[in-house]
Amino acid sequence: MIKMRGIGVSPGIAVGLAYIVDRDRIRAPRRKLRVREIDSEVARFEAAVNASEEQLLEIMKDFSGKSPGDPFYIIESHLLMMRDPLFHKQATQHIQDKRVNAEWAIERVFDDLKKAFEGIEDEYLRARSAEVDYIRNRILRNLVKAGTDGLDHIDEPSIVVAHDLSPGDTARMDKAIVKGFLTDIGGTTSHTAIIARALEIPAVVGLEVITEAVCQGDVVILDGEQGEVIIHPTARVEKEYRCRWVQQEKAERDLFKTRDLPAETLDGFRMKLKANIEAVEEARSATRYGAEGVGLYRTEFLYLNRQDLPEEEEQYLHYRKAVEEMAPWPTTKRTLDLGGDKFDHKLSAASNINSAMGLRAIRFCLKEIEIFKTQLRAILRASAHGEVQILLPLISNVQEIEEAKAILEDVKSELSSEGLSFDERLRLGIMIEVPSSTVIADLLATKVDFFSIGTNDLIQYQLAIDRGDEHVAYLYNPLHPSVLRTIKHVVDTGHEAGIPVGMCGEMAGVPLYLPILLGLGLDQLSMNPHSIPHVKRIIRASRQEDAKRLVEEILPLRSTKEIEMYFNRVFKGRFKGSSHVRTRQSEIEPSPVHRR
Ligand code: PEP
Ligand code: MG
Repeated sequence: MIKMRGIGVSPGIAVGLAYIVDRDRIRAPRRKLRVREIDSEVARFEAAVNASEEQLLEIMKDFSGKSPGDPFYIIESHLLMMRDPLFHKQATQHIQDKRVNAEWAIERVFDDLKKAFEGIEDEYLRARSAEVDYIRNRILRNLVKAGTDGLDHIDEPSIVVAHDLSPGDTARMDKAIVKGFLTDIGGTTSHTAIIARALEIPAVVGLEVITEAVCQGDVVILDGEQGEVIIHPTARVEKEYRCRWVQQEKAERDLFKTRDLPAETLDGFRMKLKANIEAVEEARSATRYGAEGVGLYRTEFLYLNRQDLPEEEEQYLHYRKAVEEMAPWPTTKRTLDLGGDKFDHKLSAASNINSAMGLRAIRFCLKEIEIFKTQLRAILRASAHGEVQILLPLISNVQEIEEAKAILEDVKSELSSEGLSFDERLRLGIMIEVPSSTVIADLLATKVDFFSIGTNDLIQYQLAIDRGDEHVAYLYNPLHPSVLRTIKHVVDTGHEAGIPVGMCGEMAGVPLYLPILLGLGLDQLSMNPHSIPHVKRIIRASRQEDAKRLVEEILPLRSTKEIEMYFNRVFKGRFKGSSHVRTRQSEIEPSPVHRR
C-alpha cells in the first residue's frame, strides 16, 4: 500500500481502478516547404484550427447540461485565443516567410506566447501559461491526426490518472464514468480544479509523480478533501473507504431531498437560508444546495489577483450573470471589502489598505470615490435584470451610511440621465461587524433596510483577536458571552426599528450553533452553499420556542466554558449521532480563503 499526498482541489471520496491517460506533449515535426506547397500548408493550418474550435464548441455543448457551475468562460478563452487574428497572422507568416510546415510554425508561435506568459510577475497569470499548452496540443493533435486522447476510450467507472488535464478534458468528463482524477501537476486556482469543483468530481492534483507510481488498472483511493491518495490499498483499507464512499453518497442524496423544503421549524418559524459566494460560478451551485438567494456576494474577489481595476462593463456583466443565475431569488452584493485579510498589494490604488483596522472596505470606498462609483453603477445596472440588494461593509458610524447613500443617489441620477435602467426600490443594508455599530444599532437602523451581522470580523474586533493569527485562535469563540449578548442586542434593536436582521459570518453555517441562532431571533442566515442542507435539517427538527428558552438560559451564564458545557449537553442530547454536526472550534474560524 502506497500513500501519497497532493493538493485536494475538489472534495469527495472515490475508489476505483486507475485509467492512465497519455497526455504527453506532441512532437512537432519540422519540414521545409517547396514554394508550391505554401498555400495548401496555410489551408492545412486553418483546417486544424477549425477542427479544434469545433471540438471545443462540442465540449461546451456537452458541458452545459452537466455543470452545476458555469465555467464556460474557460473554454471560451481558449476559443478566443484560437480565433485571435494576430495568432493566425503570425502562424501564416511563419509558413510563408520561413517556408516551414504548419506544425513547426505553431510550435514557434506558441513558444513565444509561452515565454511572454512566463515572464509575467503575477503568479496567477503566470500559471495561465498552461492554457497555452492545452491550445497548442489540441491544434497539433488535429494536424498530426493523433486522434483526440485517451479520455474517449474510458467505458468503465475509473479514476483518471494523468500528468495534466486541460479544462477541456475535465469539462468532458462524465461523472458516471470518471469517479475522480489525479494529476502530477496543477494547483487550487487552476481552471481544471475550478471545473472539477463545478462538476463535483473529486480530484487531487500536484502529486508530482502519480503517473509513475500508478499502473493501468491499479486500485486507487482518493480523498479530494484531504488531498490523500492510496495506491494498492489493503483489503481492509479498501473496504473502509468503500463504506465511507457509500455513506458520503447516501448523506448527499438525503440532504438534497430537503432542497425544496422550507427551512421551517416544527412550530412554524420560517428562516431564510442564503449562500455566501465569491464568484459568479458558485451561483448555480448555491441554488442547487437550496439557497433562497445570495446573502453575501464578496465582490472583492473580482479585484484580486490582477494588476488593473475591473471596468464598469466587466463588473456589470459579471454581476448581471449572477443575478440572472439566482433569479427569482435576490442577490446581495457587498460593495468592495478590500483590505485587512483580503489585501492585494498589486492593486496600486489599494497600496495603503493592508491593516484590519486601516483604510479598508467602506473607508477605502469613501476615499476612492471613483472606484466606488464604478462599482455602484455596475451593481445598479445589474439590478435591472433581477432582485439585487446592496450591503455596505465595515460601517462604524452614521456618517459613513449618509455619505455612501449620497454617492448612491448621485450614481442613480447619472444612470437616469444616461437612460440606463436600474431598480429604483433596491434595498440597502449594512454589515454589523464593528463593535461601535452594535452599540449605535438603533441610530443605524433608521438609515437602512436591513442588517447583516458579520461575525468573522465582529468577533475579531470585539474580542481583540486577529482572525488570521493561529496563536490566539483558541480565544476566537462565538460562544463568548459578550458575542452572544451583542448579537441579541443587534437583533432586538433591528426588530424594534422594523428591519430584518441576518447573519453572514461563518458562525451562521455551523449546525451546532443553530439552536442559539434560532433563539436569538435572526431572520436570515447566509453561509457556504454546502452547509445549507445541514443547517436546514436542524431547523426543521427544532422548535423556535425551545431555542428561545435555551437562549434565555445561556445568556446569563458567566463564561464561554459554562455556555459550551450547558449547550453541548442540551444540543448533543437532541442531535446525537449526527455526522454532520461539527463541534470543533477550528471549524468555525474563518476559512483560509478569507484570510489572504
Ligand atoms: C464577516 O466579517 O463576518 C464577513 C462575513 O465578512 P468577511 O469574512 O468577508 O470579512
Ligand atoms: Mg467582514
